[in-house]
Amino acid sequence: MSDLAATASSAYTQALSIIEGVEPRISAAIKAELADQRGSLKLIASENYASLATLLTMGNWLSDKYAEGTVGHRFYAGCRNVDTVEAIAAEHARELFGAEYAYVQPHSGIDANLVAYWSILAHRVESPALERLGAKNVNDLSEDDWETLRKSFAEQRVMGMSLDVGGHLTHGFRPNISGKMFHQRSYGTDPETQLIDYDKLLADAREFKPLILVAGYSAYPRRVNFAKMREIADAVGATLFVDMAHFAGLVAGKVFTGEEDPVPYADVVASTTHKSLRGPRGGIVLAKAEYAPSVDRGCPMVLGGPLSHIMAAKAVALAEARTESFQQYAQKVADNAKALADGLLRRGVRLVTGGTDNHIVLLDVRDFGLTGRQAESALLDSGVVTNRNSVPNDPNGAWYTTGVRIGTPALTSRGLGAAEFDRVAELITDVLKATTPVTASNGKPGKAKYEIAAGVAEATQKAADELLADFPLYPGLTV
Ligand SMILES: *Cc1c(COP(=O)(O)O)cnc(C)c1O
Repeated sequence: MSDLAATASSAYTQALSIIEGVEPRISAAIKAELADQRGSLKLIASENYASLATLLTMGNWLSDKYAEGTVGHRFYAGCRNVDTVEAIAAEHARELFGAEYAYVQPHSGIDANLVAYWSILAHRVESPALERLGAKNVNDLSEDDWETLRKSFAEQRVMGMSLDVGGHLTHGFRPNISGKMFHQRSYGTDPETQLIDYDKLLADAREFKPLILVAGYSAYPRRVNFAKMREIADAVGATLFVDMAHFAGLVAGKVFTGEEDPVPYADVVASTTHKSLRGPRGGIVLAKAEYAPSVDRGCPMVLGGPLSHIMAAKAVALAEARTESFQQYAQKVADNAKALADGLLRRGVRLVTGGTDNHIVLLDVRDFGLTGRQAESALLDSGVVTNRNSVPNDPNGAWYTTGVRIGTPALTSRGLGAAEFDRVAELITDVLKATTPVTASNGKPGKAKYEIAAGVAEATQKAADELLADFPLYPGLTV
């Protein structure tokens, strides 16, 4: 480890000095970012720290190559090394997740979802139409037939988890292209338990008859039963699409197995690679063999040339995720979330669903008299980085919110364990207790302004520094 750190230190020092010679403000910002990340309790549930090997794989000349197409079938010459890289990344993804097919080109989670949606439309809407019309591909269709087919894409229905109980914008919501593409209906959670109500979901699905049922979330602090999701999809003839962007690391690390593992049940699975999976910023799509030919056409359907340097880094990160040490890491992510939730509950903090069994803890801060925005800001002032988030039926709307979402993947990568997460729970509770809303200029209770009792932010930052000192980020790396 220290050899690696010494080598990486010299690699980064030299790389940064080259950058400094061209645009010193950029090398300075890169250095400052390391200091920022080292100095705060990073509890943003979607963030992590990739390994030095993964980070170093991204900065090279693979970036300079155009490679539209797929392995062995490119629209550009000279792609043999990209073929090698993409084939290895896809092989690791297939074997890690036990998938029939893997596509590693998507540039991000949103792009992976776009590939997923359009490949499902290609498979379920376009292919049958081509067959009916006796055409080999879309270019063979007459103007009229094409216009009919083109319009039929816009008539399709998607059903995903409601935003305010933890769904994602890409699951059919209006600000995202998915909401403009599809008719959408969302499913919520039980008002009492705040858990997915599968019986109600089935009844709603029978009524709405979606072409695509989406499972997956970015702020739901619980596991999903994908066998039940499969049954519901089958009952209404829907394609089951699972967006595991947030929790892929827990699938990779075999924390979610059996009915909690989406891969055996879903037709198509999309994910980011940079959240709990701890890889480079990017996306992947896994699919059953039936859907593989249409997923394979992600480029040119919705993607341009692949980011070959990122595919290389995906291969490195996926190789890491296949090790036993990654499985231990993933289990610790879940154990730490439990310790954090228990620590908060013990100190009287209200949690959505009353706890967690994944990597997310969602605080409901209304009992402190605060909005999510005030809580997020007060925590940030104290060196604790979280993000505000809606809670079910949020009285403050999607901007101010009533929740704070916290997650354990990043600090678990630094090595913090259950005892340290209990301490984190204590620090968070102390800050929230010491924070009061400041009345807005119109005399109403403010939703943004707040005050922290004297000395608490400073004391918390000091406590965070002390806690983090024992768990250095990229130990030995000096730049
Ligand atoms: C983060 C996330 C995405 C989007 O990922 P990006 O890489 O930011 O585009 C999509 N779906 C879910 C469920 C997510 O949590």
